[in-house]
Amino acid sequence: DFGPADNSPLLTSRLLDLLEWASSYYHAPPGEALATALPTILRNGGPLPSEKYWRLTTRGMGLPEGALQRAPKQAALLAVLQQGEASHQSLLDQGFGSAHLKALVDKSLIENYQRPLDGNQGGTNPNPNQALADKALLKEAALALSADQRQALAAIPPQGYQCLLLDGETGSGKTEVYLQAIEKVLARGKQALVLVPEISLTPQTLTRFSSRFNRTVAVLHSGLNDKQRLQAWCAARTGNAAIVIGTRSAVFTPLLNPGIIIVDEEHDSSFKQQEGGFRYSARDVAIMRARHEDVPVLLGSATPSLESLYNCERERFQYLKLSGRHGGASQPNWELVDIRRLQLGAGFSGAAISAMSEELNAGHQVLVFLNRRGFASTLLCHDCGWTAECKRCDARLTYHQQSACLCCHHCDYRQGVPATCDACGGGQLLYLGQGTQRGESTLEALFPDTPIIRIDRDSTRRKHAMSDYMAEINSGKPCILVGTQMLAKGHHFPNITLVVVLDADNGLFSPDFRATERLGQLLTQVAGRAGRGDHRGRVLIQSHHCDHPLLNLLTQKPYSDFAQHLMTERQLNAMPPTANMALIRVEAASARDAEQLLSAARRLCQQKIAPSPALRYIGPFPAPLERRNQRYRYQLAMVARDRSTLHHLLNQTSHWLEADKQARKVRWSIDVDPQDMS
Ligand code: ADP
Ligand code: ZN
Ligand code: ZN
Repeated sequence: DFGPADNSPLLTSRLLDLLEWASSYYHAPPGEALATALPTILRNGGPLPSEKYWRLTTRGMGLPEGALQRAPKQAALLAVLQQGEASHQSLLDQGFGSAHLKALVDKSLIENYQRPLDGNQGGTNPNPNQALADKALLKEAALALSADQRQALAAIPPQGYQCLLLDGETGSGKTEVYLQAIEKVLARGKQALVLVPEISLTPQTLTRFSSRFNRTVAVLHSGLNDKQRLQAWCAARTGNAAIVIGTRSAVFTPLLNPGIIIVDEEHDSSFKQQEGGFRYSARDVAIMRARHEDVPVLLGSATPSLESLYNCERERFQYLKLSGRHGGASQPNWELVDIRRLQLGAGFSGAAISAMSEELNAGHQVLVFLNRRGFASTLLCHDCGWTAECKRCDARLTYHQQSACLCCHHCDYRQGVPATCDACGGGQLLYLGQGTQRGESTLEALFPDTPIIRIDRDSTRRKHAMSDYMAEINSGKPCILVGTQMLAKGHHFPNITLVVVLDADNGLFSPDFRATERLGQLLTQVAGRAGRGDHRGRVLIQSHHCDHPLLNLLTQKPYSDFAQHLMTERQLNAMPPTANMALIRVEAASARDAEQLLSAARRLCQQKIAPSPALRYIGPFPAPLERRNQRYRYQLAMVARDRSTLHHLLNQTSHWLEADKQARKVRWSIDVDPQDMS
């Protein structure tokens, strides 16, 4: 009695509860939250994947012994099916061909049907993870843990909810703790869900999971096509995959038998959905999911978010520390290079250039870190100071050398490079600032005999590009890596001994209250790439503000001191995480429409709850990038001591916005716990 399709619900009730919670917490339409949780094919009403199976017909079952003697291959096939049904592929693998199958079909002895790949149809293998239990769990031996690692592992409860923060610098052995925590979970036949910021960039992490365990690892990331994504999703749902690794939306992957959730690089802002109507934080949803599933959740970072540190302070999370790096490689040496009034060779100080030559001559590798967003190269008129700007956004265009065009990184507008200035007609157009491509050509000129590897969104778009680059870097030969923050994430570069940060100033003076935290995390992460092998690393930071207290704190003290300083600031200003924040964002064709709508929203809210130190309204004000893609962007912020006050107000506001005629003419969204104010 085989059902044509799997009738069990696609999502468990616990997962549906979680989605309901998320849609109400983030004030998002439930449909949009549900859509995030389902693979595209299922969202569009498509079927779960199925596989062709063969079985005996009633006639085939009644066949007398010794039949088909003159067709031994057919007889053998029949004998196989007498043992039980078999997939088409497994029959091909056993050497049967379509001719044999057809012959038996023609005799009405066998028939085929589509069996859902998913689901526990037919009663076989209710939990294939379990079915593998007789196969050794480990492919390679686990490492003997350090005292810190042992303590961290022991703190993870075998079952039941508990949130733990594993704080340890890059190389301190966090991943080894994840692996051994997962080992315990798999040994009990349960599954592990691992969330990471960006998979395509960290193939090494993936390899470590699959080379440790004799179990299926399902990977969910943006590079998959719809079919692959559905397959990985089903493998998680059926328990076929023992380990599920994925980026943001993977937090909603159904699991047959969850045992632990791990969020690596928990501070990373890519865990927050910044677009659309469902602006969830995968880290925070993961914590709530662990509560719903009643399993432990482990957050790991070298630079924990202030949110998580605050939760540790209040004893909501358990704090675990891994001190020091494994293998004795010590903390890098930080040096600040004052670049005020220096003649810079295209952004590089003399000190940076000589440090680079030294390391390269010693046979080491160098990493040059550029924050492209902040100082991408733009076109400037030497005569009048005109700069090439996007016609649709309040942003400068960026020059891309390879395609010889000017591009807007905010709306993807492209145009050719003008021969003369748009404003004065002058012919002396200069390229100003440092993008990665410009950095690459500068370095080629400075170090003509050294390979330069540029790593950014453009250079890694090609398939396998990243793994090719990694192979070249891992060869260990002297080279210079130039890249954006992509380079700060999770890579192991044992032969890099010097990191040069061309300009650290952007993060110090940003309108976004989180910018200093981001800068500190970024610089610490980048610095963590240096000196992982036998050599002590150097980190050289160029700045116009070398006496800035934050920069000094960051370079002279452990990250935790820096974080503590920021926490005190946030506390004084009553900003997150010591208070709760939400933004109402509006995008409209005119600035006036956007501002008026938000002013009306503010008046409405104030009628409900008057402003006070416990509930502050900020704005409406224009977003730092006021105009994007020909739309004006405004924000109204609300900061509340009490979370329930905030949610009460947001409920009222969203009902009002849904009904309001003016609001229908604009795009609006609610952003709870906003991460990016741009
Ligand atoms: P993190 O995830 O904190 O960056 P990893 O777990 O990747 O740290 O560990 C850094 C390096 O140290 C890796 O090469 C890893 O194999 C090694 N390592 C980690 N723990 C141990 C251990 N207990 N004994 C020996 N080597 C270890
Ligand atoms: Zn001009
Ligand atoms: Zn633009």
